Amino acid sequence: MDRKNVILEDRWHRNILNAYWIVMLMFLTAQAAFLLSGGVFSDTVERDARSWIQFAGSNGFIILLLIATEIWIKNWPVHQKKAIIGCGFFMSYMVYFIIEPTADGAQMALLLPVLISVVYFDRVLLYGFGLFTIVTYGALYFLMERPWYGKPIQEFIQTECVFIVGLIIGRTILVRVKEFISYLQSVMKSEQQLLVEKTISDKLLKMDALTDLYNHKTFHEYLDALLEHSEKYHLPLQLAIIDIDGFKKVNDTYGHWVGDLVLKKVASTLTSIMMPNDFAARYGGEEFAVIFADKTLAEAQAITEDLRKGISGVEHANMKGRPVTVSIGLCDYQPGDDKESLFRKADSALYYAKRTGKNKVITASDVILADSIEGKVASI
Ligand code: GH3
Ligand code: MG
Ligand code: MG
Repeated sequence: MDRKNVILEDRWHRNILNAYWIVMLMFLTAQAAFLLSGGVFSDTVERDARSWIQFAGSNGFIILLLIATEIWIKNWPVHQKKAIIGCGFFMSYMVYFIIEPTADGAQMALLLPVLISVVYFDRVLLYGFGLFTIVTYGALYFLMERPWYGKPIQEFIQTECVFIVGLIIGRTILVRVKEFISYLQSVMKSEQQLLVEKTISDKLLKMDALTDLYNHKTFHEYLDALLEHSEKYHLPLQLAIIDIDGFKKVNDTYGHWVGDLVLKKVASTLTSIMMPNDFAARYGGEEFAVIFADKTLAEAQAITEDLRKGISGVEHANMKGRPVTVSIGLCDYQPGDDKESLFRKADSALYYAKRTGKNKVITASDVILADSIEGKVASI
């Protein structure tokens, strides 16, 4: 039994014991009322001191039993259920013998163990006590109630019927509860299944299947949100576009499948070098894009430089150990930039990197600088 169930069962021990005390209190009140209203116990002739001694003596034993069970429950954590059930069992028979034969229906006290079995959802206990009660009451009736008190056979039949119905109802409750629990479990299972399926489909929608990086669509969604954030709170943001150099030749020379392996390897190098706050996606074909959200341009430049070096340092076994290189265009977000202008700057930096020999990182400011130098040279 797990810890949660143990705590739940502990609570039920307490509840049942409380119920015993309530029953006992009601029973005492009923007997006292009976005596005070002029009634006399069966083996006393009139209401005198002896009646009250018998009242205290017969009930005292049940109270002692309840106190003993209280002490057990408070001090010994083992066999608590057995203590509660045992107490209920003895209490029911003692109540029966105290009442008998002054009141009809005293036999109903014998149903108590059956009811407790239902509260504990214990099928074995329910059948055990159910059958025991039916058989024992048969013996009690024929050996005591009939010869001593002359109770009619109808009362025996009625009482046994109540016991049988009690047993059937108890069993029905247990079966219903079991059905309900299995229904709840199946609902929970199918909800869990749905959640797993949703997580998988969410992942499929967001990720690129080949590289396991975010896909083009997710990249744009993320960039839109980040740009809005940067604009609102004046936060830094850089965009890098990474393009594999001469990738067509890789495919043409070694086959498309090798090209795919290279894409995977570049993607894994990318994820291994990036920081947790950086966001990388496969932008399309052999192009990747990275967003840096909490860095200066110099920091982003250093990371992209590490990336370039890291990728060019990988020897691809399927390409006879040859490396592949990447060109990277990097730009910094400036107030007033939108997605188009950001991409334009990163693209022109990438184009410049390709134009000037590939396997390098170029920033948008490098391009502006180079353009102005070129402009000056041309004007001379
Ligand atoms: P550059 O250095 O100028 O970037 O030249 P490149 O050959 O890398 O660029 P180009 O645009 O000429 O070729 C890109 C190639 O990438 C063409 C296309 O077949 C290939 N490609 C695109 N997607 C995939 C893919 O998923 N798997 C493989 N194996 N190849 C792909
Ligand atoms: Mg390309
Ligand atoms: Mg390329």
